[in-house]
Amino acid sequence: MKSPKAIPDIRLADIPEKGRLRLRFTGVVQGVGFRPFLYRAAKKFALTGTVKNQGSEVLLEIQGKHLQEFMRHVERSAPPLSRIETLKWDKIKDKRETGFVILESKGKGDKDVMVSPDIALCAACAKEMADPSDRRYQYPFTNCTDCGPRFTIIEGLPYDRPKTTMKKFPMCPECRKEYGDSGNRRYHAQPVSCPNCGPRLQFKIKGRIEKKEPLAAAVKLLKKGKVVAIKGIGGYHLACQAGNGTALERLRRFKGRENKPFALMATMAMIQRHCRVSAAEKRLLQSPQAPIVLLEAKKNDRLLRLAAPGQNRLGFMLPYPPLHLVLIGKMNEPMVMTSANVSDEPILFDDTARELPGLCDAILSHDRPILSFADDSVTMVFEKEPYFIRRSRGFVPLPIALPFSSPKTVLALGGMLKTTFCLLDRERAFIGPHIGDTESNTALAAEKRAVLHFMKLFSLRPEVVAIDKHPAYPNRLLAGAFPEAEVVEVQHHQAHIASVLAENGEPGPVLGIALDGTGYGDDGTIWGGEFFVGGLRGLKRVGHLLPVFLPGGDAAAREPWRTALSFLVAAGETGRATRFAARFGRKGAQVLETVRERRGGVMTTSCGRLFDGVASLLGVGERNSYEGELPALLQAEAERARPLKKAYPYALERENGLLVLDLRLAIEAMLADRRGRGERAYRFHWTLANALLDMLLILGQEAKITTAALSGGVFQNILLLKMTNDLLQKNGFTVLRQRLLPANDGGISLGQAALAAMKYRKER
Ligand code: ZN
Ligand code: ZN
Ligand code: FE
Repeated sequence: MKSPKAIPDIRLADIPEKGRLRLRFTGVVQGVGFRPFLYRAAKKFALTGTVKNQGSEVLLEIQGKHLQEFMRHVERSAPPLSRIETLKWDKIKDKRETGFVILESKGKGDKDVMVSPDIALCAACAKEMADPSDRRYQYPFTNCTDCGPRFTIIEGLPYDRPKTTMKKFPMCPECRKEYGDSGNRRYHAQPVSCPNCGPRLQFKIKGRIEKKEPLAAAVKLLKKGKVVAIKGIGGYHLACQAGNGTALERLRRFKGRENKPFALMATMAMIQRHCRVSAAEKRLLQSPQAPIVLLEAKKNDRLLRLAAPGQNRLGFMLPYPPLHLVLIGKMNEPMVMTSANVSDEPILFDDTARELPGLCDAILSHDRPILSFADDSVTMVFEKEPYFIRRSRGFVPLPIALPFSSPKTVLALGGMLKTTFCLLDRERAFIGPHIGDTESNTALAAEKRAVLHFMKLFSLRPEVVAIDKHPAYPNRLLAGAFPEAEVVEVQHHQAHIASVLAENGEPGPVLGIALDGTGYGDDGTIWGGEFFVGGLRGLKRVGHLLPVFLPGGDAAAREPWRTALSFLVAAGETGRATRFAARFGRKGAQVLETVRERRGGVMTTSCGRLFDGVASLLGVGERNSYEGELPALLQAEAERARPLKKAYPYALERENGLLVLDLRLAIEAMLADRRGRGERAYRFHWTLANALLDMLLILGQEAKITTAALSGGVFQNILLLKMTNDLLQKNGFTVLRQRLLPANDGGISLGQAALAAMKYRKER
């Protein structure tokens, strides 16, 4: 997860050995200790000159001998959070000067600006906090140039204290000294503070501020199994003891969340008591981004049963804010740390949020305002690399580099679930924080606010707004907020494939497989199992899963037994269908009738619904209490089972020039299979992976393409991803998968923006 430090566009050998140079650095060079670093470097090599932030850049003038050595040092030892994107230099006339100084920042932000994401507490700060003789002993707002909040507290640029939400805390003499001392770790660290001058904790019950020591009061309540909202870096968490069943039940009641797994926070030692942690996973947990990492739980783990019923992974993160480090220390046990929000809306971050008191027993807050919200990022490790389920805190707003330059500034608004937006400018794409489900006005307002903030930060005005083709997705309303921009509609699954291409720097052509739950198709039906040929200049649908009738449309997504019934009828299993329907009484009979007559529903090629149906047929469950619940449980069953690599039969057919994957035979065979549920679940995964390979072998031969791109929410299923990836590679395909963005709908805004932008690029 470390950024490359090599300086692009520059050959050190070209730099003169002595004289005076003017250098302009762009990239993540503000708010990451870059100027202090240059200051120390200049002293080290006995050079004179000046450095300042100018707009988005850092402007350095440096004079003396050993300039090459100085630059080599810059390249080697730049601060851990910095990322130099470009560096331009000129030789200029020598000046008479005696030392090296940091000049006050001037000017406004411009187009090339970059803002650092929020960074987990660093080891040096954690050490101070553990030292009883240190003035920051257990101080919950400790930070330095290498760590602390950034994106979430920055109001504007250049990045200086008056342009952060720390502006209301004047530094005490001691902090000012550290801030001004070039030898100090906190030299020009904008959020620096201490117990004398920094933010204060506050403990509230039922709207009343309690006089007790806030942290101790919160700990006391938490130890009684209560739920406390805790203000973090990018918003409020709801916290409770992870190992206390009653506390969890209480939290589930507050959140209206039946079974959905909760994220946990604990020390590394605690995590290792509950999960197997590989070296790569450990690195990811301890990275400066400190995301939630989904880890394989030990057999029959108690926390797993409580926090993630039916699953085999637990989502853990380390205490990345100093406040949480103190809290976990005092609790001395793993805690649930779930985003405080209402039904998958954006995380609550505003202290005046009216919904907050209704979600908890008490609130542990403080008076450092959060300006931008950022949910915790969620990751897994796939083949030793991070694989994103959600990209937000720690990564936002770092841009993704594109394989082309866009002639237009494009804003893409994402889908409806797991929404993110993307602001694309020339060859960079800024992906916004996780917004969540944009069905409500609150969520839409949050998305709009975040978009406007990004536009201001990066001085961008969208000329094109890209939206999903779905006529009923509410966030298309946001397009109206940019009346001067042209609106481009992008098909959902094309956006998924374009997202993989854009972030992999691959313009295509490729064979794309998009497998997900729901997306509006070009023919007005619901798609979700799609095969494409093409690239960023355009994708052509060349195949799909066999369309199946979805009784009741959206109701089927919540109640997979409806879909299961439809698959039984489609597979010609009349007797089984009748028996299965009988389990649901009158409702079952009704649904069976609508399926037989194909009225009151839609046709779909959705792979998510296929997983729903199969899970329900195998008796994994009947309802999804959250999106993708049964498919996740089906995957867990398969992962626990003996890996039986024997595919069920299936058929590929040609229809209207498209290649159609028909899995009805597989469903029949799976139902006739007398093996256990887990083995059948495994065989189903294996069958699908083999069928995908067969599809690509045919499509690839026709198109003469051997690169495959995989995306869509179904590929969050890393069992299926691994099988598909391995089979394709074994058969000579190069496989592209999402690396920087999630395969689910959190990734599509980039694809929307990329496809829309390419429409405006003239053919070469
Ligand atoms: Zn630090
Ligand atoms: Zn202070
Ligand atoms: Fe999707």
